[in-house]
Amino acid sequence: MTLPATKYAIIGAGIHGLSTAYHLAQNLKASGKGCGADILVIDKTSIGGGASGIACGVVRNNYYQPAMRELMAHSVGVWESDPKAYSYHPVGYMQISPEVMHADVATIYEQQQAIGYESTFIEGAADCQKYMLGLFDDWQAKGITSVLHEKRGGYANNTASLYGLAGKAEAEGVRILTGVEVKGFEYGSNSGAVTGVITNQGVIACETVVVGAGPWVIKFWDMLELPKAISIKGRDGTMHNNVPMWKFWCLEEGTLGVDPNMHKTNDGKMPPVIHVDTDAPLYSDVDGSLITDQLWGLYYKPDFNFGGVQGGASPYKVEQDPDQVAIDPYGPDSPDFIVGDDFIHMWCSMLAHCQKRFEGKIGLYKYKEKSGGLGCFTPDNFPVFDTFRENVYVIADSNHGYKMIGVGKLVAQELMGEKSKLLEPFRFDRFAKGELHPTSHSPFPWS
Ligand SMILES: Cc1cc2nc3c(=O)[nH]c(=O)nc-3n(C[C@H](O)[C@H](O)[C@H](O)COP(=O)(O)OP(=O)(O)OC[C@H]3O[C@@H](n4cnc5c(N)ncnc54)[C@H](O)[C@@H]3O)c2cc1C
Repeated sequence: MTLPATKYAIIGAGIHGLSTAYHLAQNLKASGKGCGADILVIDKTSIGGGASGIACGVVRNNYYQPAMRELMAHSVGVWESDPKAYSYHPVGYMQISPEVMHADVATIYEQQQAIGYESTFIEGAADCQKYMLGLFDDWQAKGITSVLHEKRGGYANNTASLYGLAGKAEAEGVRILTGVEVKGFEYGSNSGAVTGVITNQGVIACETVVVGAGPWVIKFWDMLELPKAISIKGRDGTMHNNVPMWKFWCLEEGTLGVDPNMHKTNDGKMPPVIHVDTDAPLYSDVDGSLITDQLWGLYYKPDFNFGGVQGGASPYKVEQDPDQVAIDPYGPDSPDFIVGDDFIHMWCSMLAHCQKRFEGKIGLYKYKEKSGGLGCFTPDNFPVFDTFRENVYVIADSNHGYKMIGVGKLVAQELMGEKSKLLEPFRFDRFAKGELHPTSHSPFPWS
């Protein structure tokens, strides 16, 4: 196969690569500067072959960091722009929290009000219990003192949304080639800019490269000869040197194989996505033993696509040299990074802790379907959206990203020469400048 030269080579047919391709094609056409035929998307496996294809699909605004929240509000707008094509279910999202997170979530609510993102905030144990019982008459989670109910957001079906996005991009003339694996780059003789993408099928000459490689970003970072370790200025002004640029966490998710209709609200509607964090002790739903007395959290939703009630719990950090972590085979095909019996026992017990309808249901867990997957995180666990080597735009979402369908729209804008205020807080130089995002009390590294 002879590979075509292209103006824009986009690596990765996940949510970011495809969204960038589609929106860039639209921008090129509207500006008269080109069209979708100037864009080539390549992927070593398939559309949705990475994290986007296995994501739970939750779309929320709930973030403690103002810059993340504004970016998510923008992304929710993109999901809402074509729910059918994106297979998007706007059921809303609930963050249900213990006292240790109360103040953090209160600021999220205040700032949602400030940016016009519709939500309701309930405070105090009794009022929270009453609100939750109004939705689910079997609600029984303990230790809850605040409930943030986001009226927008919800979830989307992972693969269907990606094919929807790919279809829109192709309708604009974008070419998508799968089975093409990037091995390295060619550089110009007088600059560090990339002039060609070296693949297993030959070299693709190009003017601009976009890397949307999800968990494989670490490999591209190496190919681009970017630093493995960096210096970070802490909030107190102290410089921390030699901090590894990348680390892996493993996401743990699964599906309880019940009829999704069993998890409807009292009035028979599909419920919002539920996310509960609590410091109430978690006891086994199997034998009553204590599983943990530390802060824990879970999320879940009824999902016909997964065929049950699907969700997950806090991820765990992969304590291995990131260069040695086996990213391939990825997701359910990985022998190492899939959930085991401990997760299943814990997550099913968490479900039962929250709602009586899930008690005694662990036997219905979908044991035969492997689930879970790696995410590659930056030093502060927040994304890096920036240009390297003059013409390589790296979209490193630090595993926040299926919900961030709007990032590609903003990247497309930046590729057209217009800087995005929303992406500005995610530049690489924030580490050296000490312009870090605030951290919350959530047990999740992405909240
Ligand atoms: C189990 C799990 C659940 C998640 N749930 C959610 C959720 O509910 N909501 C949410 O917002 N986020 C979620 N995430 C995070 C989210 O999925 C990712 O942040 C996001 O999908 C990353 O998108 P991407 O386009 O950057 O990368 P990916 O979707 O991973 O796509 C990268 C693509 O690059 C290709 N590629 C890699 N190397 C090469 C190469 N050398 N040459 C050519 N192609 C290459 C891969 O084949 C892949 O298709 C979840 C992640 C996991 C693992």
